[in-house]
Amino acid sequence: MNYPSSRPFHRKPKKTLSRSNTRMSVLEYCERKYYLNYYTFALKQDTPDLWAEAQLLKWLKTVEMWIWEKSHFLLSDYLHALKKWEATDEKIAELKDNMRAEMRADFDYSRERDYSDREDFFGKFWLAEHFYWEWWDELLEPAIEKVCGNLDRFIESSWNQKVQDYFDSAKFVYVEHPRTPDFESMKVNIRKLPWLKDVSVLAWPDFWVTFSDTDFLILDWKSGKEELLDNSVSDQLKMYALKMLLKKWITSLDWVKIEAYEVYLDSMNAYGGILRQEDIDSIIAKVQHDVEEQKQFLVDQDPYKNQPVDLMMFRKTTSEKKCEECPFRSVCKKLD
Ligand code: SF4
Repeated sequence: MNYPSSRPFHRKPKKTLSRSNTRMSVLEYCERKYYLNYYTFALKQDTPDLWAEAQLLKWLKTVEMWIWEKSHFLLSDYLHALKKWEATDEKIAELKDNMRAEMRADFDYSRERDYSDREDFFGKFWLAEHFYWEWWDELLEPAIEKVCGNLDRFIESSWNQKVQDYFDSAKFVYVEHPRTPDFESMKVNIRKLPWLKDVSVLAWPDFWVTFSDTDFLILDWKSGKEELLDNSVSDQLKMYALKMLLKKWITSLDWVKIEAYEVYLDSMNAYGGILRQEDIDSIIAKVQHDVEEQKQFLVDQDPYKNQPVDLMMFRKTTSEKKCEECPFRSVCKKLD
């Protein structure tokens, strides 16, 4: 086996190093998974077959990830209708019917697809459960009902009225468009943090409210396990708050109030609170630490070139459970 090496690649990477919560979660999960997900191009020169397979695996979603994604889509569709005063009972029923049809079509496409076709993968949807030949047809209808149930719970909760009130009275309300992510607007203005030169920092909340020039609310929808059991503010929310401050070219909360919550669609429990200066200071320090950690995996520690060091420097997790659930498990075994 010729391992991908750290020598120069035929094709230069298109982007400088980026830092996002998702990316740091993958690095924490497993260093090799981080390599396979973010430095797939490095496989192409020495192992083109594995590169093609890894490119395909990057697009796999588990049913759990799919439920999360579709729940965001449906809630966003609903909130945009609410913003335009169009969220009637008929409209809500139509949105849910559309989502049911969309999920059934996606599922059929994923099940019938020829996975040996390595040329036809960009931007396409398929489930890890189908790729790995686990034909779990019984997962489809519960997944659809879970997605629709998440919207029902939101509408029945007190958050529905609060959001309507924000649309009525706030200066500005942003609702994300998760079907068409705008990567340019995800970038954080880091020019006030010069040590992040040559790095792209990405963060974008699901929903925010501008009550005035100095008063903001950030909401992030969550589906799945509740990770925070107290009212501390998560690092993700701190990052969103920092992004809002940096839009104003400041890092101080002296004259600004930011309140931020993660809202779990399963339970409609919300975790978070009013940001304190120490939250902002700690997330700035964390971003700096994260970027230094990411640079350890780069040739010359150069975020601008953004070329990975040798694959063998990216350690595999020792957790069998993580490997059992990892979309890259087929390629990973072949690299050993
Ligand atoms: S299969 Fe395991 S070791 Fe390999 S990339 Fe995935 S999590 Fe890491």
